[in-house]
Amino acid sequence: MDKVVVVTGGSKGIGAEIVKTLANEGYKIVLNYNKSEESAKKIQEDLLNNGIKIEIFKADVSKREESKKLIKFTIEKFNTIDILINNAGIAQEKIFTNITEEDWNYILQNNLNSAFYCTQEAVTEMIHNKKGCIINVSSIWGITGASCEVAYSTTKAAINGFTKALAKELGPSNIRVNAIAPGIIDTQMNNNLTAEELENIKNEIPLEKIGKPKDIAKCVKWLIEDEYTTGQIISINGGWYI
Ligand code: NAP
Repeated sequence: MDKVVVVTGGSKGIGAEIVKTLANEGYKIVLNYNKSEESAKKIQEDLLNNGIKIEIFKADVSKREESKKLIKFTIEKFNTIDILINNAGIAQEKIFTNITEEDWNYILQNNLNSAFYCTQEAVTEMIHNKKGCIINVSSIWGITGASCEVAYSTTKAAINGFTKALAKELGPSNIRVNAIAPGIIDTQMNNNLTAEELENIKNEIPLEKIGKPKDIAKCVKWLIEDEYTTGQIISINGGWYI
């Protein structure tokens, strides 16, 4: 497998699992991280101990210049970029009337503009190559909306619109654009939930369990390998929202 993949926010949770899954399949990986350098290095080291070499690159993808550097690094290192996984994201729980303009802009920069910046940098190369695959990690809340997470839900709904519009525009260039909308997945993003809250959520989910990062990584692998799926928002949520 000689395809080159960039995973934004690959240092933890879902992104880390996507990196491990694709690295084990032989993809050439650039793991992007921002704050969690130790964790990024540990993933790199563990893979290297199994004979798999990946690159790691620090960039705050909420900033255009740093996103540009990430894609530039990838193309210089591997001569191209085939697949971009826009996974980096943050969550914030606040009642609507308490959301400050600073909160609002911060969450939009991290969850939405990051995908805009990285994608715009990457597609120039993809259009030139007449091939490419972009996968955006959205959320169940972008489809149905979450109380006390209006800013977060807004960014994920926007990611869904971004995915569909871009799929139409880039289809003729043989570039597929899809999104995955996870339900609740066992990562640090949900550390704020108590055991009781998690149990209550489980009871609302038809499959009666919290998702694992691997559930998302498996879908990413499938979307990369597939050749005829584009513009889709794929829900992986145990039936929580149907
Ligand atoms: P997580 O464990 O908190 O990990 C978030 C990742 O995003 C980290 O690797 C973090 O990197 C990275 N990140 C955040 N802001 C960044 C930035 N500005 N630049 C570069 N990297 C950045 O969360 P997760 O659950 O894996 O979330 C991954 C994605 O899945 C997010 O888009 C999230 O919205 C989505 N999602 C999660 C769930 C869930 O239940 N967990 C459900 C639906 C959707 P550093 O730590 O290195 O800064």
